[in-house]
Amino acid sequence: MNGKHTDVIIVGGGPVGLFLACLLLQKGVSCVILEQREEPSRHTRSLGIHPPALERLAEVGIAEELIERAVQISEGRAFSGPTVLGSMTFESCPPPYRFILALPQFITEAILEKRLKELDDSALLRGATVTEVFDSGGHVIVRAVLGEQEVRYRSTYVVGCDGFNSQVRRSANIEFPGGKYTDTYVMGDFEDRSNLGSQAGIFLTKEGVVESIPLPGSVRRWVAKTKTLLEDASADTLAKIIQKRTGIQVRSQTCSMISAFSVYHHLATELARGRILLAGDAAHVVSPIGGQGMNLGWLGAWTLSTALAGAIQNSGSAKSLFDSYSESQRRAAITVRKRSEFNMWMAREGPLLPLKRTLVKWTLDSRVRSYFAKMFTMRGIQSQ
Ligand SMILES: Cc1cc2nc3c(=O)[nH]c(=O)nc-3n(C[C@H](O)[C@H](O)[C@H](O)COP(=O)(O)OP(=O)(O)OC[C@H]3O[C@@H](n4cnc5c(N)ncnc54)[C@H](O)[C@@H]3O)c2cc1C
Repeated sequence: MNGKHTDVIIVGGGPVGLFLACLLLQKGVSCVILEQREEPSRHTRSLGIHPPALERLAEVGIAEELIERAVQISEGRAFSGPTVLGSMTFESCPPPYRFILALPQFITEAILEKRLKELDDSALLRGATVTEVFDSGGHVIVRAVLGEQEVRYRSTYVVGCDGFNSQVRRSANIEFPGGKYTDTYVMGDFEDRSNLGSQAGIFLTKEGVVESIPLPGSVRRWVAKTKTLLEDASADTLAKIIQKRTGIQVRSQTCSMISAFSVYHHLATELARGRILLAGDAAHVVSPIGGQGMNLGWLGAWTLSTALAGAIQNSGSAKSLFDSYSESQRRAAITVRKRSEFNMWMAREGPLLPLKRTLVKWTLDSRVRSYFAKMFTMRGIQSQ
């Protein structure tokens, strides 16, 4: 594509960039993704695909394959140690998707990439690291390193889908205020020997929460709140935490992934500056507790694809379309951040455990249950 003009250059071929490209191509907008990685990622970090995002993913024709490959979680159970406090089903959620899908992020990305290639085989350029983006007023120049070569591309608009450390955001001088929470976690994937089946489990304990999410292939993700960042945590360490807090035994020899992590929140001060736009983690980072960051990015990409198609058709409307995307997506990000902060508060260790247990029991026994079911399935966050 060197030298060729494209409507939109997307920097970053993670889940958000790939989805945005599929949407744009379906709308007749030409686009290309510049992705620094030579090979697809093998990260499992994100799992949950929520109904509102699945409805959008269906629009690019991949919902069926996602459903086929994933585990459908239609119920979550809350425990206090091994005692069941109650359960929440997603049956009251609007059809057709009354469940949350659990699927490792690299499989989701592979499905998106396959669909993108069906739409345009040349729309993903791997091995291209973007070093600078310059808005000339009439178009955007993107500089990148491709192999040993420095290359320049030109497009009408550029979208930074290049994650937390976004180069596009830096080039556009957009600030990214936020911070690090004091909370830390350790997570790992093990062979599933629980009796939870396709249910998710939340174990409230005085040492902190343990979350448990089923994955395809009889695997289960366990996430435990820790007092400090256990950088050198082994499968054995996590297995012991799980056993102590939940009574469930996992076999550390079956661990396929272990990772300790800190959590952050950031929100770009604007998601549109001239011809440069931001989406996904480049625009907002929320705590993964509650599993909504990627979904938030997809919902934003959907709104942005409509704004971009409108701006290509009528350049006079670009500013108001982009401002409206920026405002609505920033609002959505703030709502998701608040929800994740509530989840983290619930997850913390300490003396408030009896109060939290009562709150959970009351919630699961009462009519506000459907409100929380909506909150956990990401209903009501997108203002369009
Ligand atoms: C432990 C953990 C668990 C999570 N679980 C969930 C969950 O269950 N549900 C959920 O919704 N979210 C979850 N998230 C969040 C989710 O992983 C992210 O929100 C999501 O990956 C963001 O997607 P993205 O495409 O915006 O950015 P990324 O996934 O970060 O992708 C950015 C892409 O840009 C490329 N790139 C970067 N810089 C350049 C450059 N200069 N030039 C070219 N390419 C570049 C990168 O190589 C990468 O491919 C979780 C996060 C963590 C850490």
